[in-house]
Amino acid sequence: MTTQIKTQQKSKKSERIKVAQHRTNLRSESLTIATPGFGSTNGNDNHESKGIKAYAAQNATASLGPFAIRRRDVGLHDVQIEILYCGVCHSDLHHVRNEWHNTVYPCVPGHEIVGRVTGIGSEVQKFKEGDLVGVGCMVDSCRTCSSCHDGLEQYCEHGPIFTYNSEDKHLGGVTYGGYSKAIVVDEAFVLRVSEKLNLAAVAPLLCAGITTYSPLRRWKVGAGQKVGIVGLGGLGHMAVKFAHSFGAHVVLFTTSPEKGADAIRLGAHEVVVSKDLDEMNKHLNSFDFILDAVSAEHDINAYLKLLKVDGTLTLIGLPEKPLGIAAFNLVAQRHQLAGSMIGGIAQTQEMLDYCATHGIVSDVELISIDQVNEAYERMLKGQVKYRFVIDMGSL
Ligand code: NAP
Ligand code: ZN
Ligand code: ZN
Repeated sequence: MTTQIKTQQKSKKSERIKVAQHRTNLRSESLTIATPGFGSTNGNDNHESKGIKAYAAQNATASLGPFAIRRRDVGLHDVQIEILYCGVCHSDLHHVRNEWHNTVYPCVPGHEIVGRVTGIGSEVQKFKEGDLVGVGCMVDSCRTCSSCHDGLEQYCEHGPIFTYNSEDKHLGGVTYGGYSKAIVVDEAFVLRVSEKLNLAAVAPLLCAGITTYSPLRRWKVGAGQKVGIVGLGGLGHMAVKFAHSFGAHVVLFTTSPEKGADAIRLGAHEVVVSKDLDEMNKHLNSFDFILDAVSAEHDINAYLKLLKVDGTLTLIGLPEKPLGIAAFNLVAQRHQLAGSMIGGIAQTQEMLDYCATHGIVSDVELISIDQVNEAYERMLKGQVKYRFVIDMGSL
């Protein structure tokens, strides 16, 4: 690198810092509530919270452990949240172990966040201090592209800002997720949470809930349809609950025969052990829709064959390795293969409200933060009933 380029970069950087400081000063002036309770402030005009307790992975092979992070000052439109519970999604594990080859370390995962509002910016309309709120997989998007206009922020043409491992436009570096004591999020990406439901069991709705609700709505799953759900994990068990609630005939496919009784309790009408070829063959050409929520390599051809003419298989699971597809399994009966990622903010609120009305929550196992590494190992073995949720009081 030449000295000239270095100098240019240095002066650009100091300009950026000045602009950032100016912005933060403006924000500080506009605060209605200071930022108490979350570690010390740094003593200058920028009152961002430092030394907030979190849990992070330092590299792809390390266990998660204690780590201190910063959170930005509360801006005009920001909501500051004390995190009470955070679900453990398989995507957290994929990220921590760099299975999608894009993790920036240290990585603080967690995007199934439920907490209480502890501060708001002066322009905040929807929330007040003390409200129960949720934050899911996104904390921002461009808000101007056609996807954002259509309420599909998750498909933002400029890329949504995910709750962790995305560029942090406020503090630099990457965003840090919910395995932490507090978070500051623009109110446009904060969800209202009902006081009626078990809070720990609501947390997984913020990812597992919306990720299954959205495609079931998109493909209009309902009464008179035969719907398959593949994999009874965090996503799968929510899919079973929603598909049942929407009135469909629900068939759960599992590799774990011992989950059969639970699947029926959760709302499945039939359970098929996918390793049993005779059982699988009984369902050939019979499904309107199949939602595949499997986290690892598996044969999706076995499921494509079960669709009837014009039936759709939608992938929501994100295995590390590509899946092989035999063209005949799509071509021969005009089958459709699709994908779906989480859901937009408006639909996430719709899903949370639907859950409050219908009393739907996740089946959870509450853990303390120091059990999270063990929880990952159990998740890999499919031994989750059916979502781990971290009690953030333990951090
Ligand atoms: P999870 O709780 O670990 O559940 C995955 C389930 O898949 C397991 O319980 C198991 O169910 C089944 N399974 C695991 N390994 C398998 C294998 N080798 N062959 C067949 N089945 C297997 O994971 P999750 O949190 O639900 O997440 C599932 C996937 O969705 C992950 O890849 C995650 O990253 C992804 N995800 C996607 C989105 C999105 O927006 N599209 C959002 C969140 C998560 P059985 O024991 O019943 O077979
Ligand atoms: Zn998730
Ligand atoms: Zn956008």
